[in-house]
Amino acid sequence: MVKNIIQQEFKITREDRRLRNGHNSFLVFFTGLSGSGKTTISCAMEEKLHNEGIKTFVLDGDNIRQGINKNLGFSPEDRSENNRRIGEIANLFVEAGLVVLAAFISPYKKDRNNIRNIVGPENFIEVYMSTDLEECERRDVKGLYKKARAGEIKNMTGISAPYEPPENPDVKLTQFNSVEESVDIIYSKIKDKLQFKR
Ligand code: ADP
Repeated sequence: MVKNIIQQEFKITREDRRLRNGHNSFLVFFTGLSGSGKTTISCAMEEKLHNEGIKTFVLDGDNIRQGINKNLGFSPEDRSENNRRIGEIANLFVEAGLVVLAAFISPYKKDRNNIRNIVGPENFIEVYMSTDLEECERRDVKGLYKKARAGEIKNMTGISAPYEPPENPDVKLTQFNSVEESVDIIYSKIKDKLQFKR
């Protein structure tokens, strides 16, 4: 499939863009059950970074699934393809010099590892939202757990589909961390990484 494709050498590189932006670029990847707080924390994180003059972009499960990935469902194969595309999209934004905040359930270890390899391990920060199922179900932000319990949704992560927790996340947050606390914890983890060094 990749026959006859020749990679173009661009004059302006990722390093040039990082230098111009005055900060490094990388992917902060939020994984966890639906309702665990991925969207909430990633948006709060973006606000803090944006207010500090950092160029950012949020990629979120629901937006991506309504657009570029709208032809994909929730089978293991489609979830893998969903993640592969997310990795490639995130990589383009990292290439463009931005700090990307990505909020996806991403239940399989192998898919998260694939994303890590696509963007490069040095550009990948994994944030595990370890909010337990009970709390996610209590919040039931989108009413999905209720539907899943009633058998109206198949392949619901945590109920009828597996979630493989990260073994060595860079940051692990729980439901006992407030939004502000969570942002501070992540910020202290990425503070040094934000500095661009040639
Ligand atoms: P996800 O993106 O993981 O599906 P959301 O961010 O959409 O999760 O939903 C999490 C919900 O939980 C939001 O309604 C948020 O206001 C609420 N919430 C309550 N406490 C917290 C907390 N400590 N951290 C994150 N979200 C929280």
